[in-house]
Amino acid sequence: MIKEKNIQIIGAGLCGSLLALRLGQRGYNVTVFEKRPDLRKVDISAGRSINLALSDRGFAAIDLVGIQDKVQPFCIPMNGRMLHDTEGNTVLAPYSGREHEYINSISRGDLNSLLLDEAEALPNVTLHFNYDCRSVDFENATSHFYNYETKKESSQSADVIFGTDGAGSALRKNYYLENKFLFSFSQDYLTHGYKELSILPAENNGYKAYKNALHIWGRGDFMLIALPNLDGSFTVTLFLSYAEGDYNFNNLTTKERVLEFFEKYFKDALELMPNLIDDFFENPTAPLGTVKCSPWHYKGKTILLGDAAHAIVPFYGQGMNASFEDVVEFDKFLDLDFTTWERVFEAFEKSRKQDTDAIADLAIDNFHEMKGHVNHTDFREKRSLEMAFEKQFPNDYSSKYSLVTFNEKIGYREAMLRGRAQDKAILNMLADKVIKTPLDLSPDTLKQTLQNVQKETNN
Ligand code: FAD
Repeated sequence: MIKEKNIQIIGAGLCGSLLALRLGQRGYNVTVFEKRPDLRKVDISAGRSINLALSDRGFAAIDLVGIQDKVQPFCIPMNGRMLHDTEGNTVLAPYSGREHEYINSISRGDLNSLLLDEAEALPNVTLHFNYDCRSVDFENATSHFYNYETKKESSQSADVIFGTDGAGSALRKNYYLENKFLFSFSQDYLTHGYKELSILPAENNGYKAYKNALHIWGRGDFMLIALPNLDGSFTVTLFLSYAEGDYNFNNLTTKERVLEFFEKYFKDALELMPNLIDDFFENPTAPLGTVKCSPWHYKGKTILLGDAAHAIVPFYGQGMNASFEDVVEFDKFLDLDFTTWERVFEAFEKSRKQDTDAIADLAIDNFHEMKGHVNHTDFREKRSLEMAFEKQFPNDYSSKYSLVTFNEKIGYREAMLRGRAQDKAILNMLADKVIKTPLDLSPDTLKQTLQNVQKETNN
């Protein structure tokens, strides 16, 4: 049993509020400090994306804290990718051949508010807002805050501090700047940034596009995606290079040029977006990057979790899911026989880091897949075959996407290794015409093809 019970959490975003709830349920005294105002009381955007894709790894965390019934009403199932070509033709590419496997669009604000409500309802959890962590004395587990309301500075100590303060983590910055131990850190930006736009609800509060899909307009070097919201709107995100290509964020500076760009590449989306120009010039353009670092912890005093430890690009829809899974995995180590926080932190990071490194790499792969590969014939043939395998032999095959998204029983690293080997096997067999096209999906041939793919994968 660990004796030290006083816990400080910096950052009450998705990971911090879930962690507060879980540690509160376990009986720790938890004090949370969040930089921004309380999003349940002040009308602020919840930060970063407006809605997100929640899938099985995230749901495992929701199950852990026992609030599935409360989360469910906020979820809109998305069964597949709705692919839009430049002519406005669409095709729905399911995420899985198994009907119960789909992802969910959920509002970041709704989910974060629910987690805060649940955490705050516990007598041993206290939430403080408008507290901006400026530095952390990690030797002494003491954080220094500036309060935006009182305009005063204060120092707050605890037995242990969890930094769940997101991709720009103040705790992580301190590890780096203080240079007191060997801290490795990398931050890789994509040349692309993102901008959020919207498709407003239809007049009757219906949806102007098919509701139960993640819409993708992949155009090779850039793409547009849209996820549904409960009010009938879609949050649309444009991923585009800052400086490269004929059209980029740096040169889309006039109304005429933005319209020309959308007319040329996203005509059917433009018809649904009379508000495009306002959105485009009012909403910020933000960068996308991957953060990897180690160690996440300093002795038994401080530890990073969520994006603070491993920010990733959003193309696998796994950043929040991975951050939630951090809490599930961390929780398992609290059940073991460790007597100090240091041992818990060490064991957790040793087991977890390989998985968060893997999802970071997978997310970059998916960036290329979504903007370009989804439109290639060999990619589509592979997906058709995988859908048929999953449908006809649900216990014998899971695609890489399914392994990552719907198989929380295995870690991201295992999902990546198995998934990549399968992809390589199928693509090679298609290229070598071992698998013939058009695909023969009759039961006997399909079974034989699956056996061949499995054999090739294991080679
Ligand atoms: P955050 O959500 O960033 O929360 C950090 C919190 O700490 C914030 O509340 C912040 O105000 C607070 N904070 C920051 N600094 C301080 C400080 N100095 N002092 C006190 N508090 C501080 N993930 C998915 O799983 N599915 C998706 O579909 C998905 N889509 C995405 C789309 C986009 C465009 C982006 C950018 C990300 C997406 N993600 C998605 C990733 C997801 O947003 C993050 O992984 C997730 O928010 C991480 O949660 P977190 O709590 O670690 O960090």
